[in-house]
This record gives sequence, C-alpha cells and structure tokens, in this order.
Amino acid sequence: MLSWDIIEHGKPLQRVVKDTPKPQGAEVLVRITRAGVCHSDLHIWDGYFDLGGGKRFYVKDRGCVPPFTPGHEPFGVVEAVGPRAKGVKVGQKRVIYPWIGCGKCAVCRAGQDNYCVAGPRYLGIMRPGSYSTHVIVPDAKYLVDTSGIDDSFAATLACSAITAYSAANKLPEKIESVAILGCGGLGLIGISVLKAKGVKNIIACDIDDAKLAAAAKQGAKKTVNTRAADALAQLQGVAGAIDFVGSPATAALGIAALRKGGRYVIFGLYGGELTHPLPPIAQRAIGIVGSYVGSLQELKEVVALAKKGKIKPTPVETRPADQANSALEDLKAGRVVGRVVLDFETVSA
Ligand SMILES: [Zn+2]
Ligand SMILES: [Zn+2]
Repeated sequence: MLSWDIIEHGKPLQRVVKDTPKPQGAEVLVRITRAGVCHSDLHIWDGYFDLGGGKRFYVKDRGCVPPFTPGHEPFGVVEAVGPRAKGVKVGQKRVIYPWIGCGKCAVCRAGQDNYCVAGPRYLGIMRPGSYSTHVIVPDAKYLVDTSGIDDSFAATLACSAITAYSAANKLPEKIESVAILGCGGLGLIGISVLKAKGVKNIIACDIDDAKLAAAAKQGAKKTVNTRAADALAQLQGVAGAIDFVGSPATAALGIAALRKGGRYVIFGLYGGELTHPLPPIAQRAIGIVGSYVGSLQELKEVVALAKKGKIKPTPVETRPADQANSALEDLKAGRVVGRVVLDFETVSA
C-alpha cells in the first residue's frame, strides 16, 4: 500500500510504501478511492491548535505523533474482511465513519463514539487515515452505504457534513432564526443542513462578499458582511448562531447578537480565546455550546438527506492523490473554493 504521511509537522507529506495490512477479527480492509482534504488536516499537519494568549494545544498530546497518515474523510471499496466481520461484502463501496471510539466506554455504548472518554481511535488522528490506498476499519458497522451519491461528495460527508449537522442538532427545535458565521465550504453545507431541518430564516455572515453571494444562492435569506460597522446591529436578536470559524471576533459577534434565551454553537477551530462577563450569560439565559464532528447515527442521517437531494453538494474538486501536498498548501493559502478530494484510484504502489 501507499500513503502520504506526516513525517515531521509542517514539512511536506512524504509518499511511503508499506505492507498492506490483513484484516483481523471483525476488521475490514478498505481500498481508498477518495479522501477529502479537511481544514483540520492543516492543524494536524502543523501539529498544534492555537489556544490564544500564546498558548498551544499540541496534537502529539492526544496520540497524534509522527510518522502517521492523516485524512478523516475516507471513501472506498471493501477489499478484504476479517473472519468475524459481519454485514459487508468485498467489492461494496462505502463511506467510512472515522470518529471511532473505544466501543466499550459508557459514552461509546450510548452511540457517541465521537465523544469517547476511554480510548478514541479516530482515523487520521490516532489511527492511520485516508491519505492512503488502504485503511483498516475496526468493525463493519462504521461503513455506510452511500449508493446514488457522487463518490467525492460522499467522502466529504464523513467530516464536513456531519460536523455541520451535529452543530445544527444542538440548536433548539423550531428555532426562528439562525446566523451562520463563516461561509466557506462548510458554512454552505451548514445552510443546506439548516434548510433540510426546516429553518427558514438563515442569516449568512462573512467578511467576503463573494462567499456571501454563494450563501444567498445556497438559500440564506439575508447576508451580513461582518466588516460593516453596523454588523452587530444587523444581526441583533438572532435566536441561534453557529460559528464555523471559531475566532475571537466571530465568537464575540455571535454571542453578542443572540436574543434572550438564544444559543451559540461553536465548532470552528481557528483559535484564540474567549473572555466574557459572567452576569449577562445568566441574565440573558444564553447557551454557549461546543460541538465536535458527529455521531455514527448522525452520519447515517446526513447520508439519507444527501440521497434525497436535501443537502446540496458544495463545489468539490477532485485531484490526483499525489497532489496531497499542493492541496494542503492551497487550502492553507485560502485558494480552495468548496472542497478538495484526493483521488487514490490514480496511484498504485
Ligand atoms: Zn475534518
Ligand atoms: Zn469509548
């Protein structure tokens, strides 16, 4: 097998040839055909997240120590199954749920692998990921059938779409208005997801008018350029806000704009820190909630919505896998519109 590995944080990924693993027990070996390039791959590549105030969270502290294979938007074809693998056959195309937990702790048993407290096995973070021709999946239950959806788009459901979906699930039902903070590829999926969930009044916020135009096309009712002096006034009184950026500026705006009883959900990992006076959190009865990727059940729900055409694909550009480094560079430089997905059918060991 072939993979593009982080050998040293911040340095170009290296093409590495290894022995293809054999699936044991309930494991499944998937031959990767598509691998989405996610914004958080950049943080994993750099090796840290910015916590603000000069502080950093290093990915090595959660088991992400080079050399390792990144990539957590995996899609491929079942190539081999272990003797105890059930429910999947060689040759079937599947998206892989990458946020795999220990499977044993109370949180995993409740179906929240993505919040595993005992020993997460997230692909592309703790376990070898999808910048590779082959990936071992611990159990067939993490494979989801996406028949009828474009392969490249299906790959992006594993992180970008379930992340937006899970964040939207943290807002109250029948919410009357929601601000989307940040209208990159993920923000656009977020608009689709909110529409699919029946939210009519979606307000798109960004600093870039071209992205706001794309958001309006995607179904946002109103757009706000947050560089405008009256941006807060334009947004004031919103019932919910989802922060796709996660910077001090977007957090301050999203929280300040909420009506009483409103909820701000953050999953963007741009970095920085939040300082906020405490009494108004109580007096305004606002909620500040974090969200991290999504559960296996949420992936299944997102796939079902995509099959019905209720989640509009954002622009997806499929590139040969050996362009992994330039894809990361382009993403870092802000040159990517929508998503880049690597095509592993173009390479062989
Ligand atoms: Zn991701
Ligand atoms: Zn667990």
